[in-house]
Amino acid sequence: MPRRPSFKIAGERIPLGQSKDVRLVISETYTGEKVHVPLRVIRAKKPGPTVFITAAIHGDEVNGTGIIHDFLFGDLIELKCGTLILAPVVNVFGFESHERYLPDRRDLNRSFPGSAKGSLAGRIAHTLMTELVDKCDYGIDLHTAAFQRTNFPNIRADLTNPAARRLAEAFGCSMIVDGKGPLGSFRREATKRGCPTIILEAGEPWKVEPSVLQIGTRGIRNILAGLEMIDECMVKPPFLAKVRKTQWVRATVGGILKFHLSPGDFVEAGQALVTNYSIMGVEQNTLTSPTHGIVLGMTTMPAVKPGEPICNIATLTAKQLERYRGQLERAKANPYSQAQSDFATSMDVVEA
Ligand SMILES: [Zn+2]
Repeated sequence: MPRRPSFKIAGERIPLGQSKDVRLVISETYTGEKVHVPLRVIRAKKPGPTVFITAAIHGDEVNGTGIIHDFLFGDLIELKCGTLILAPVVNVFGFESHERYLPDRRDLNRSFPGSAKGSLAGRIAHTLMTELVDKCDYGIDLHTAAFQRTNFPNIRADLTNPAARRLAEAFGCSMIVDGKGPLGSFRREATKRGCPTIILEAGEPWKVEPSVLQIGTRGIRNILAGLEMIDECMVKPPFLAKVRKTQWVRATVGGILKFHLSPGDFVEAGQALVTNYSIMGVEQNTLTSPTHGIVLGMTTMPAVKPGEPICNIATLTAKQLERYRGQLERAKANPYSQAQSDFATSMDVVEA
């Protein structure tokens, strides 16, 4: 682990024992003003791991911004050792316009590692890799579902990377989706470059949801506790499902949906997910789950056309389903597990 007694970021040197807000230049506006990513750098007196936490790489995914805010002005963090870098908004352009993408319509989270002479997105990605990732030992990147969808809180990580696996397991979500991540994604390229990085996928865009906030802040504290950067007990989830396969169930006819399940619910193969009614209220069909699993993601828009995604199911075997169900039942008295199981009921996305 590099000791980094003197740490320089965004052109500022920050010694051990000090915290500072700095602004990393990532681009310019049409009128030539510098565009900055705001960062808070918190350094303990003792050297240790350097960890970044980033949010809003997709500019409309502000649940992560809310989670980081909790560490900026809420529960201030007392580091025993190491350095924590908090970036509440990475895609400043998208954040300003409540949009996922950059002004050139590119997805920043498919543009890594980027290059100094590349596109707008590529240059921003390159700056983040060289100015942030290269100075860190671990990363946590916070996301939500895409437009008109919501996600049951889950961690996505490459579990073949031992350090990424330790981070993913420490976070404390009930579900880890195993995989390297899409080509050009921040966590894939950061991990490849030697900074094991995981993502949290939780909730909806355009919202800061209390249940997501609770799971996100607890998860970050769990990871910092696991790295021995803070003095705290790690809180375990009621069950931990590691899945590799997820599949979308899509609408077959246009209509209005009534939902029978919520994100985070267990589901058996053949169980009804939604019933599709015509606009005049005639029942058209009921879609069922193709597999045993957990409802990982759902549309928040009940009006659908053929082919539109409705439900994303994380596949489990019958044995896993039975085991996790039992573990959840037994853990109901635990306040954290309650927070996880409350997630779905608190969202009530279907009729909203
Ligand atoms: Zn995202």
